[in-house]
Amino acid sequence: MEHWIIDNEPALRLGFFIGIFLLMATLEMLSPRKRNFLKPKNSNINSHGVSQNNTESIRGFRWFNNLSLSFSASILMRLILPLGLVGFSLYCQEVGLGLFNLDFFNQINSIFIFIFSLILFDCIIYWQHRIFHYVPFLWRLHKVHHSDQAFDVTTGIRFHPLEILLSIGIKFLVVLIFGLTAESIIAFEVILNGLALFNHSNFKIPLTVDYYLRKFIVTPDMHRVHHSQIPTETDSNFGFNISLWDRLFGSYQDQPSLGHDGIEIGLKEYKDTEQPKKLSNLLLMPFKK
Ligand SMILES: [Zn+2]
Repeated sequence: MEHWIIDNEPALRLGFFIGIFLLMATLEMLSPRKRNFLKPKNSNINSHGVSQNNTESIRGFRWFNNLSLSFSASILMRLILPLGLVGFSLYCQEVGLGLFNLDFFNQINSIFIFIFSLILFDCIIYWQHRIFHYVPFLWRLHKVHHSDQAFDVTTGIRFHPLEILLSIGIKFLVVLIFGLTAESIIAFEVILNGLALFNHSNFKIPLTVDYYLRKFIVTPDMHRVHHSQIPTETDSNFGFNISLWDRLFGSYQDQPSLGHDGIEIGLKEYKDTEQPKKLSNLLLMPFKK
């Protein structure tokens, strides 16, 4: 079973991604949490002289941009690191690199190490996200994610390819230091990608369900606060999977101050500009003033 999972890692991850993406997109369509993120001031007249609904055309270019960013990041990863994290972890295991590959850890139950690895990885990702907000050079990359003026399942995959590259670099370092197993890396990546799609999605979850769910994991209502234009809210709720880290490290904010209907999504600096709408501008955004 373990071998099958390792051998079929790319197909397995892609399968989970497509399945969860389609499920979230369908739920958003059937029961949206918030409509009209972008309130068009007036309607467009297209080249045929036909009035267009801005909200619909905005959805079109947002989805195109966000999916294109994700696609280009995946291609870049496969070109630069064809063996990926799993291949690297197997290599570390073979040559005995990393803490958990030491003889001492052979005596500890592998299930315990597996669960501990997932929690450890998640805590590191929490701090990575927080650092990306506070270090100016890293924020330049991460603000591409925050410049999205709406919040839906595609926001969860909208990251600049260089941010993805850097975060993979950090994960390589974590694997090298701790000697994480291939199985724990695959499980973590599937959970992280799945929950990132879930907690960026825009479908209605009953408030009581949200109340209990967010005691354990990050829900869309919890993460939406992080995409508010109000800086103190942008700098809160950094978690992606387990909601504990924000409560533990003092960055938890329960609800947006303007409520989920009044919240303005995105970044103030791009509020009235055309910049975030073009893919080329998103790719060049970190390098511009
Ligand atoms: Zn962020």
